[in-house]
Amino acid sequence: MARKQELIQNFLSAGNFTSLYTEEADLKSYSTMKIPSFADLIEVKSVDELKQIVSFLTENEVEYKVLGWGANQLIKNRPTFIYLKLDFEFDRNILNEIRPSYVLPASVSLAVLTSAASRLGLGGWEVFTGIPASLGGAVFMNAGTGLGEIGPLVKKVRAITPVGTEKIYAAQDLKFSYRENNFLGPGEIIVEVELSHNGYDDQVRQKITEYLKMRNQTQPLKENTCGCMFKNYLSDKISCRAGQSIDIMGLKGFVKDSVQISHTHANFLINLDDASYDDVVKVISLIKNELYLQYGIKFDVEFEF
Ligand SMILES: Cc1cc2nc3c(=O)[nH]c(=O)nc-3n(C[C@H](O)[C@H](O)[C@H](O)COP(=O)(O)OP(=O)(O)OC[C@H]3O[C@@H](n4cnc5c(N)ncnc54)[C@H](O)[C@@H]3O)c2cc1C
Repeated sequence: MARKQELIQNFLSAGNFTSLYTEEADLKSYSTMKIPSFADLIEVKSVDELKQIVSFLTENEVEYKVLGWGANQLIKNRPTFIYLKLDFEFDRNILNEIRPSYVLPASVSLAVLTSAASRLGLGGWEVFTGIPASLGGAVFMNAGTGLGEIGPLVKKVRAITPVGTEKIYAAQDLKFSYRENNFLGPGEIIVEVELSHNGYDDQVRQKITEYLKMRNQTQPLKENTCGCMFKNYLSDKISCRAGQSIDIMGLKGFVKDSVQISHTHANFLINLDDASYDDVVKVISLIKNELYLQYGIKFDVEFEF
């Protein structure tokens, strides 16, 4: 057993942790693109255990990264690295009543919140419609749709620092921009989020149903993808939609090494059948270069890799 793995095993056994450590875990099913990949994984069961685990990893100079739904990151083989998957319990009954705000664990899925919004008529929560994400991942990315972004709904964020201490970000500290948070420090992990809403709205259920129908028609939501490949290009002078630009180049349906540009939406790459991390990265680079040649614009990749 490698030294790092032995260290972690001993640490977790000595502290009677309930969190689960798997060496060289098969992470294919931990991301929406389902890329074959192996890395060490700790499924963390409580905030208290998370504090101890990250401070131990930091002390021992082991790099870590949080894995939410894996809907915005390509997972690759990382022998020197620990992925942390948060799996916190909470009382789901709070989502059966209308409250001014909700304090929720970072590990809850946006699908659970969309469903609560639909049942309770929580105005504003329709922005989550169809976004595969954990709440922590959505806040980290300032996820959003054509209906709006999550940022304005966030009232407070509780985070854990790399040395295992708590940090609270209150309303005045919370800064978001397009698909980014601008407040978390390096290595900080969101563990809890207080979400507000815009009051009761009897149209929420209908908005969610219609938006989901539209998304299903215009995006390959049932395929293995990582969402949008490139961010739209926005500057003072021009705004350029990445999907439309790829479509104009006639690249819809293009396939290389089991990676396909979706026929439905040109900004989505589909893993047709066990494409590797390198296969996906190569296709991204190819399209990025083509976009630069055609439009003179360097599009930023939206997901992490
Ligand atoms: C089919 C499809 C459709 C999509 N549509 C949209 C859309 O309409 N709008 C949109 O915005 N996005 C969309 N996405 C992208 C994705 O759903 C979002 O970016 C989402 O916010 C990612 O959340 P996640 O939990 O999967 O995070 P991950 O992909 O697991 O992680 C993303 C980043 O967040 C970090 N992170 C995750 N959790 C935490 C935490 N608790 N604390 C600190 N850092 C954390 C990770 O370390 C990583 O750096 C789509 C993706 C797919 C596959």
